[in-house]
Formats: sequence, structure tokens, C-alpha cells
Amino acid sequence: MLPRIAEYYAITLAGNKIREVSELNKEKVLKSDFSLLQETHSNLAFSKGLFSELSQDGMEILRRSMGGHGTSYYSGVPQLMNEYIANNTHEGENTVMYLQTARYVLKNYLGFITKGKPLADSVKYIARIQDLADTQFTGKNPWTLEELRNVLVRSLGHIVGVIGARISNK
Ligand SMILES: Cc1cc2nc3c(=O)[nH]c(=O)nc-3n(C[C@H](O)[C@H](O)[C@H](O)COP(=O)(O)OP(=O)(O)OC[C@H]3O[C@@H](n4cnc5c(N)ncnc54)[C@H](O)[C@@H]3O)c2cc1C
Repeated sequence: MLPRIAEYYAITLAGNKIREVSELNKEKVLKSDFSLLQETHSNLAFSKGLFSELSQDGMEILRRSMGGHGTSYYSGVPQLMNEYIANNTHEGENTVMYLQTARYVLKNYLGFITKGKPLADSVKYIARIQDLADTQFTGKNPWTLEELRNVLVRSLGHIVGVIGARISNK
């Protein structure tokens, strides 16, 4: 149950940030400025895919934790899940949504690495690819939230770097 609540908070906070960027994009588009359009598309594609998937997987975990009640129609849970499942497909099939975001991230990576193009806010972590090599794991336990966040950001940058390097070598 607690990981599902943690996911709820993460989704809500990320959703608020994405809404902010989307609103800003709307204001800019009304002034014929399309500079945030691609980033907004990538943010929305990624969040639609991930949030609906986390929600559906979370519902299934909670359903199983209810034992027999989770399978009984009179609990209302199976109907709820049946209703929800379409969210992975409509308004953009999730695999396709992830591909859209991956394309945007890799495009930013290649622009940054080969031409030194500035990175959009949501992919700034790419600039920290080299950081991973310099990371010192001190073995301190527990890590602070900031340390944990740093390691996650660096790992993400590293993964994008590895994939981007493979694609650009083809
Ligand atoms: C309940 C419900 C309500 C809907 N309401 C509306 C509506 O009101 N208006 C409307 O216009 N549409 C509506 N739709 C349609 C919906 O938008 C489409 O079903 C959705 O976009 C997926 O497209 P598709 O069905 O062609 O599936 P496809 O895109 O053909 O997907 C089928 C499979 O192929 C995979 N796939 C597709 N492309 C790739 C790729 N490039 N690489 C790898 N794998 C890929 C997908 O992951 C998936 O597993 C609704 C759908 C549902 C289920």
C-alpha cells in the first residue's frame, strides 16, 4: 500500500510541473511562439504512458492484496479495473507514447553532443552524463534525498548517453 501512496505523490507533483509547462506553452503558442511545443509534447506523451501504467499496475497489486474480495464482482473492484484498462490505449497507445518521448530525448542528446545545442529544461540531466564517471559512492547509509536524486539523475544521463552513442554509431 505505501509504495502506491508514494507513487500517487510522485505522479501529482510531476503532473503539477507538467501542467505548468503546458500552460506556459499555451500562452506562447497564442503569441505564435512554438519554442516549447516539442518539449510539451514529449512531457505529455511520457506522463500519459507512465502515469496510466503505474495506476493500472498499482490497482492490480491492491486488488491482489484484498484476497478473494478483490476477485468478487460485488466488491466493485473488477468492474473498476475493467473500466480503467482502456487508459493504456486510448488518447495514445502507451508504447507509442514512450517512443515519442524517447525520440525527443535522443534528438536533444545528439544536438547537445554533436553541435553543443542548449538542452530543454526537462532533459537538462543529459548535460551531466560525464558526472557519472566522477561519482564517488561513499557507502553512507542512509543517503539523503538530495544524494539519491543526484545518483538517479546521473544514471539517467548515463543511460541516454549509452543509447545515443549506439544509435549515432550506426
Ligand atoms: C475505450 C476507447 C475509446 C476510444 N475513443 C476514441 C475516440 O473517442 N476518438 C478517437 O479518435 N479514438 C478513440 N479510440 C481509439 C484510440 O485512440 C486508439 O485505439 C489508440 O490510439 C491506439 O491505436 P490503435 O487502436 O490503432 O492501436 P495500434 O497503434 O495499432 O496499436 C496496436 C499495437 O501495436 C503496437 N504499436 C503501434 N505502433 C507501434 C510502433 N511504432 N512501435 C512498436 N509498437 C507499436 C502498440 O504498442 C500496440 O501493442 C478509443 C479507444 C478505446 C480503447
